[in-house]
Amino acid sequence: MISILVFVVGICVGSFLNVAIFRVNESRSVIKGRSKCRIFEEPISAKDLIPVLSFFILRGKCRKCKNVISWQYPIVEFVTGILFLIFFLKFGQELFTLIRDWIFISFLIVIFVYDLKYMYILDRFTIPAMIVAIIFNLWLGAIPAESLITGAIVLGGFFYLQFVISNGAWVGGGDVRMGALMGLMLGLNQGLVALFLAYLLGAVIGVILLMMKRVKRKAPIAFGTFMAIGTAVIIFFGDAPLQWYLGLFV
Ligand SMILES: [Zn+2]
Repeated sequence: MISILVFVVGICVGSFLNVAIFRVNESRSVIKGRSKCRIFEEPISAKDLIPVLSFFILRGKCRKCKNVISWQYPIVEFVTGILFLIFFLKFGQELFTLIRDWIFISFLIVIFVYDLKYMYILDRFTIPAMIVAIIFNLWLGAIPAESLITGAIVLGGFFYLQFVISNGAWVGGGDVRMGALMGLMLGLNQGLVALFLAYLLGAVIGVILLMMKRVKRKAPIAFGTFMAIGTAVIIFFGDAPLQWYLGLFV
């Protein structure tokens, strides 16, 4: 019963994340004002704003103007619900860790979707996320402060070096902040594992897309999406992937 409640709460959070992504891109307030139809600027009635369900009831089209609503909305809502649920099932015993993870995941979802859609990692997302990460991790104390600081410096510095060497051609300032954020969320060791995972995932997806001829070789890759996934995976699995990997050599 409580699992269903958590799932529904997650879906509603996902709905809010969609609004945040959309409105930040349009430079509007995330909290103030009602949701409007993109085309006619008419307010959308409450019965058409039910997360996930409305999309299917309306068959993906605006009730008034019949314009297509993006699949992003139900997908983000559903995935957020699922992630809230699986984190609850794993970490439900430790309430504050669970709340921290839900907040971290919410930031990562926004960063993921925004980078996928617009190819930017915005400071408006990474900087509040860094502040939240510092506060929560210092308060909970599971990761030593030195690990958080060195993690931020090493991972942020890794991208900063690339930024300096390439004169901003390989990576952007957003990647530097995202690297630092990974360090502040995970600490040094797990942060490095998450970074490795991001590169692994980027390589695999890159090869698949090349084989499907979806991208040209020089096409820029939204690397923030992979960093967000790598971070989320390590938040969930902790040390397990590294233990498994090291175990291969024993
Ligand atoms: Zn409309």
